Amino acid sequence: MSAARDAARSAELRERIAELDHAYYVLDDPLVGDDVYDALLDELRALEEANPELVTADSPTQRVGGEPVEGFEQHEHLEPMLSLANARSAEELEAWEGRIHNLLKRFDIEPGAISYVTEPKIDGLAISLTYEDGVFVRGTTRGDGRIGEDVTHNLRTIRSIPLRIPDPPGLIEVRGEIYFPRSGFEQLNAERAEAGLATFANPRNAAAGTIRQHDPALAAARPLQVWAYGIGFRRGVDHTTHSEELDWLRERGFRVNDGIAVHESDSEVIDRCRWWEREREGLDYEIDGAVVKVDDRGLWRELGVVGREPRWAIAWKFPPMTATTTLREIAWNVGRTGHMVPFAMLEPTHVSGVTVSTATLHNEEDLARKDIRVGDEVIVTRAGDVIPQVVAPLIQRRKGKRLRRPKPPAKCPACGTPTVKPEGGVWTICPNRTGCPGQVFQHLKHFVHRGAMDIDGLGEKQVQRFLADGLIEDAGGIYELEAAQLTELDGFGEVSARNLLAAIEESKRQPFPRVLFALGLEDVGAVTAEALARRFGSIDELLAAGEERIEEVEGIGPIVAESIVEQLADERTLALISELRGHGLRFELDESERRAGTGPLQDRTFVLTGTLPELSREQATALIREAGGKVTGSVSKRTDYVVAGDSPGSKLAKAEELGVEILDEAGLRALLS
Ligand code: NAD
Repeated sequence: MSAARDAARSAELRERIAELDHAYYVLDDPLVGDDVYDALLDELRALEEANPELVTADSPTQRVGGEPVEGFEQHEHLEPMLSLANARSAEELEAWEGRIHNLLKRFDIEPGAISYVTEPKIDGLAISLTYEDGVFVRGTTRGDGRIGEDVTHNLRTIRSIPLRIPDPPGLIEVRGEIYFPRSGFEQLNAERAEAGLATFANPRNAAAGTIRQHDPALAAARPLQVWAYGIGFRRGVDHTTHSEELDWLRERGFRVNDGIAVHESDSEVIDRCRWWEREREGLDYEIDGAVVKVDDRGLWRELGVVGREPRWAIAWKFPPMTATTTLREIAWNVGRTGHMVPFAMLEPTHVSGVTVSTATLHNEEDLARKDIRVGDEVIVTRAGDVIPQVVAPLIQRRKGKRLRRPKPPAKCPACGTPTVKPEGGVWTICPNRTGCPGQVFQHLKHFVHRGAMDIDGLGEKQVQRFLADGLIEDAGGIYELEAAQLTELDGFGEVSARNLLAAIEESKRQPFPRVLFALGLEDVGAVTAEALARRFGSIDELLAAGEERIEEVEGIGPIVAESIVEQLADERTLALISELRGHGLRFELDESERRAGTGPLQDRTFVLTGTLPELSREQATALIREAGGKVTGSVSKRTDYVVAGDSPGSKLAKAEELGVEILDEAGLRALLS
């Protein structure tokens, strides 16, 4: 390529990458898969390497992330927050080690004499926690690496971030990664999908989206976590090695990953990176690689930083979790409550080492909201979930192609009954509630799954087989299975039959909230089932409750209350309850369960606003929760109290308007005592 063409292409790449960075880092809503993004950045890097005069100060190879988001106070990091260079193979890692030896030639270091630290590369959101004389004073995001957004209010809600550290230096910036645990993420997305809300593309976006909220009640309600992995600026403390610095952080109460290891040889480093790759699927946090760092901090100073990347560290990257591919067709299944559920048939693609050809599309409404069409190029991800999902279409790639908007089928794909869209409803359904084998299967699948009755050894495949062989017809049938029926089946020996029956028996001890969830009522996810069970204590109380009392339960609005009452009055629901009850499943809380979560403020809902004189927001939240109360983010007619401190926000005015009782800190303490 000529110099002019290189210059034009690099300008084009810079512009495109800036646009993608903005969508990814600022809007938390990526426009392309990481595979496409990485390829563009690699191309720019190669061009700049061949033509160093093309490197501009604002090139994405020189600066980190996106610009800080408006609406948050901005803070300059005392020491910049950097990115990491990547290695995608053992050769690239060895080449990096070779470069280090080269750069340190004048120190006459023997080959193999440098120690390295390996760490998991957490796929979350980088943060910097500033402690002055041991007190947590500020938490910021990475922003553009130089200036980040002040998100202290949200970080304070994460209990594993110490608010004070013992034996402190004068000033220190602790660096780490905030992440959304995978288990919590799956639940969050399932609940959002069920409620018809937009789902998060991956745990990283969910963490970033949560940290960038103005109201800390939202962050407090989500299970965010943190791993600390380094120190930025420091005054009053120094460490010779990185591993000492990590031990120091651990001793001061920070969460430091136990898998971090120190190695004396290059081959050990590569083995450990591969070990992390094998461990990846089983962890409760998302990792996108392993980070290798030179242990000796004295050498860090010698090696320095190039562009936005330190020379003393490198990321061993795993294959990306997202990919871009073509959506060939949209097919439909029937869900457990009769909804038509879309799923994507894809041009097969590799996502984190697995070939993916189908992916979930959540629901009809999500499909319409994202405007996904047949023939679109789409981003697919496996992040946070083993089931791949389509995140978004690449609308700009349609380029005038006329693509078909998907429509739910006119007939149920499982039983052929004409589908209907109830007036005012958002879903198209199969009205054949009792006779549709698809709905029966989906309900049973839900009934046995981990979050419901959790029957070991009874998964989707067995359910399908037992249904096909006529061994069971509904959930009650599971409790009537006999050893002789099972041992007749291929592949079922005496031992596996006995184990399965024991697991079925064991499931009868599952507590009432799980049994209620397992019933599979529409709009009753795990959280709502728990709230209903706590509020009413037994199925009989719930059956007798009526719409008004159900609507008083946290998180339930009038439409859902009406739908719950309707479903509970349905004779099929009643028959199932009675059948399961007959088999000994638990339809009420026991004494100890009833006592748990009770306290003087049980069922009272609080909203906090402004700064209280003594209690921090987290302390006030914790005290209210310990007393059985709830803290929510916005004021409604169901709010019992608004606790207002100095400089309260609009919530105080709303409370006055609705006539909600307003307390100061002393008033709250009086309630608690
Ligand atoms: P990076 O995430 O690859 O690496 C740097 C970051 O790693 C650090 O800032 C830190 O937050 C993190 N990290 C995690 N564990 C660490 C540890 N133990 N020690 C040190 N740091 C640790 O770099 P990046 O510049 O933040 O992001 C690049 C990634 O984002 C790539 O995977 C890229 O594909 C993706 N991306 C995608 C798009 C898109 O549009 N799809 C856009 C921008 C970026």
